[in-house]
Amino acid sequence: MSKFVLIGSGLAGGLLAAYLGRRGYEVDLCERRADPREGNIVGGRSINLAISTRGIHALEQIGIADKALQHAIPMRGRMIHDKSGALHFAPYDVDPKKCINSIGRAALNATVIEAAQRYPNVRVHFNHKCTDVDLDTPTVQLETEHGQVTVHGDAVIGVDGAFSAVRQSMQLKIGNFQYDESYLAHGYKELTIPPGPDGSWRMEKNALHIWPRKSFMMIALPNPDGSFTCTLFWEFEGPRSFATTKRDDDVRRFFVEEFPDAVPLMPTLLEDFRQNPTGSLVTIRCAPWYYHDKVCLVGDAAHAVVPFYGQGMNAAFEDCVVLDECLEKFPDNRERAFAEYFSRRKENADALADLALGNFIEMRDKTASKTFRAKKKLDHFLEAALPGIYLPLYTMVTFTRIPYAEAARRARLQDRIVYASLIAVVLIIALLIFHFV
Ligand SMILES: Cc1cc2nc3c(=O)[nH]c(=O)nc-3n(C[C@H](O)[C@H](O)[C@H](O)COP(=O)(O)OP(=O)(O)OC[C@H]3O[C@@H](n4cnc5c(N)ncnc54)[C@H](O)[C@@H]3O)c2cc1C
Repeated sequence: MSKFVLIGSGLAGGLLAAYLGRRGYEVDLCERRADPREGNIVGGRSINLAISTRGIHALEQIGIADKALQHAIPMRGRMIHDKSGALHFAPYDVDPKKCINSIGRAALNATVIEAAQRYPNVRVHFNHKCTDVDLDTPTVQLETEHGQVTVHGDAVIGVDGAFSAVRQSMQLKIGNFQYDESYLAHGYKELTIPPGPDGSWRMEKNALHIWPRKSFMMIALPNPDGSFTCTLFWEFEGPRSFATTKRDDDVRRFFVEEFPDAVPLMPTLLEDFRQNPTGSLVTIRCAPWYYHDKVCLVGDAAHAVVPFYGQGMNAAFEDCVVLDECLEKFPDNRERAFAEYFSRRKENADALADLALGNFIEMRDKTASKTFRAKKKLDHFLEAALPGIYLPLYTMVTFTRIPYAEAARRARLQDRIVYASLIAVVLIIALLIFHFV
């Protein structure tokens, strides 16, 4: 049976190792960090994330959805906090059972790695950092505590995240490799709302909280221990920005002005702000995602997106399902399997990248407006009135497995029909008034 060397045991790496292990392949899963189960939180990434239908489906296929979701907290909609402290709740869907789930990254990472380790043909090597890949042989150079190690496989899969070393080797060695990275002018910083004295949540637990402030925003997702993890998305540079707000007084003033209802719930605000890193937000598009039958990219390594649709991990998990299907379809032709995987995923990854960028504007700016809330109500009315015919974009992306590109196309068409119908109705009413007056 062929041997796969997987670089990166993050969320997609662990899950893909489980899928490949189930198919009977020999798998070496190499991760630069220590075992996350030894308490080393996956640094530089969010503490919790939202998992929805696509991600849950991928976990179900390998039989670990219930385990992964046992501590997840359902979020039924957005809780908008305006500057006066007033709250507005906007459900995600007309069906109250449809929700996204806040899940801890470290626990989910441990669950997928354990799922992979159920298969004796999967071996996991922590503290193994990939430094180079020879694409043709294919051979991986790894830095370990005991020095340099060389590992050879029939195929190498780069599941090593947005700054993928495997992708870098492809960039260097494939002549016409296309690569594009673009950073947002905004960075992010994680902050904490601890549990109340009795261990309970100090805001509505079953919601994703948003403090939209036009050019920036803060969000908060609930954790099982009664706390919330807040993320401030803010400009790196500018008159009011991470760059100019460093002193405790300035930080406190900014928060009191912008998020007055959150400040009393954040006793460690100043320490968190000082100590927690400021992360950057990147979109990465590249092509191709494979090299003959030797190398392939999965997850953020192939298509990092900004986090505003809550879909990066969901899409990475969906990659694992599709790659597994392609390997099943072409058991004796890995290059065709990789090619089909790339052609099924590339257009969708590009569509998701655009959707995620667009949703930043929606979350930080439009969610605060009455027009946005009216549009959501109209969406839900149409969804209920035309079941199976009208599906809001958010519903298609989050609560179905309709490919992202198709969802985006269908939403554009629906919008055109709705706007044309509204204009027609207004014209008819105007004509009737004109006729009878
Ligand atoms: C602030 C923030 C919030 C987010 N929220 C959500 C959300 O709510 N929902 C959602 O679906 N997505 C969310 N995402 C996106 C999500 O985090 C990523 O899409 C997801 O982690 C991708 O999984 P991955 O396995 O491809 O990459 P990663 O999770 O980044 O894993 C890559 C792994 O490879 C390892 N590695 C890297 N380089 C090497 C090397 N040279 N050698 C060996 N190992 C290596 C890393 O240590 C890591 O373990 C968010 C992202 C951010 C930044």
